[in-house]
Amino acid sequence: MSVRVRFAPSPTGQVHIGNIRAAIFNWLFARHAGGKFLLRIEDTDRERSTPEAVQAVLDAMTWLGLDWDEQPVYQSTQLPQHQAAVERLLQTGRAYRGCKGDDPSSGEVVFFRMPGTDMTFHDEIKGTLVKKAGDLKDFVIVRSDGSPVFHIANVVDDIGMGITHVIRGDDHIENTYRHVAIFQALDATVPNYAHLPMIVNAQGKPYSKRDGAAFVGDFREQGFLAEALFNYLSLLGWSPGQDLEKMSRTEAVALFTLERVKSGPAQMDLRKLTHLNSLYLSEMPPSAFLQTVRAYAATRVPWVAEADAELFDRVAGLLQSRTTLLANVDAWRYFFEDQPAQDEDAVKKTLHKPGVRESLIRVRDGLAALPTLTAAAVETVLRAAETAGGLSANKLNQPVRVAVTGVTIGASIYDIIVLLGASRTRTRLDRAIAKIAVTNQVV
Ligand code: GLU
Repeated sequence: MSVRVRFAPSPTGQVHIGNIRAAIFNWLFARHAGGKFLLRIEDTDRERSTPEAVQAVLDAMTWLGLDWDEQPVYQSTQLPQHQAAVERLLQTGRAYRGCKGDDPSSGEVVFFRMPGTDMTFHDEIKGTLVKKAGDLKDFVIVRSDGSPVFHIANVVDDIGMGITHVIRGDDHIENTYRHVAIFQALDATVPNYAHLPMIVNAQGKPYSKRDGAAFVGDFREQGFLAEALFNYLSLLGWSPGQDLEKMSRTEAVALFTLERVKSGPAQMDLRKLTHLNSLYLSEMPPSAFLQTVRAYAATRVPWVAEADAELFDRVAGLLQSRTTLLANVDAWRYFFEDQPAQDEDAVKKTLHKPGVRESLIRVRDGLAALPTLTAAAVETVLRAAETAGGLSANKLNQPVRVAVTGVTIGASIYDIIVLLGASRTRTRLDRAIAKIAVTNQVV
């Protein structure tokens, strides 16, 4: 049997990570088996299925490298097949016309007739699942306006597309008992099922946008790499056995099996994902990192296009290993501005302290006396200024950092000064020195 699986999103807005994780698992399963990974857009909700929502699905898949086989199937084009299946069910007595709640004014609908027996199916992840006949009532398959509902459209399309395995979220388990009954009523082969564990937050509740980034587009905007998100989501509910955190796409394809998908909920941990992203970023060849940063910034961080290109390359080289998200690039701005913005709180806490002004003057003069600006030489100047001011070692690192960059965190201050160069560093130190003098007079 050659494997045919599908991702069947309802395009109703942005693409939630739970949905795209289902796409990833289907893709891994198909690629592992050398089968087909198909795409079906379940766009029968004409109000919510906008062209933008469809595009969001296609973009998310393309970005994550989830290439699909064959032409995508748009469910809205399959209406004749859905209607034909309903006709057949009506003829064989497996469906009947009626009114909801016996109220004729609500209009006539079509009900599917459940077989009246317990329903059971084998789930590749959850094992054998059973539901009592008494808990499975007949249900509507065609609304009073003539439109088929999800259940019939979903099953008829799976039959039409020759789907062998339905891999989807475990929120669909209740539907599956009904779907199995429809497959059987249509004399079709029931596909194999695999219901994926829900993605939950730290409290064990379904992970939603209230918990942080929840849509593929959000992760992309924040500067997660597609490879890192793919890697993280493929391990969210699946484990290849070894305790692997970082895994290439090729390895994941080679190792993926449904047997190793966990049945319990999978907890989303943004910190772990961010850490993984920083690993991917730091392991990139510098030229690839630079290219990625520039591509990200092109539409999101406008000042980068104007920035001195040579300095930008060097800054990227210095900060690559400290970058956790591509969005961090905006914080590099201080390298390029004549007068970088200053964090006033940091200024108050580090610069407006007795003796700091004198120390900064010593640092400025010490730097001016250097024949060449190297990190080691800058360090020597700072140590000498500390000794002269009766300060312990490294006490001046933060004041100098705030004076020069305006903020309290960043790469090594010695490296930063070397990158900025003598003249820019001097201008910034002078500005801080003047600022302290003015404020001290006022106070
Ligand atoms: N459109 C449904 C969903 O997104 C399809 C579920 C499925 O059968 O995969 O939940």
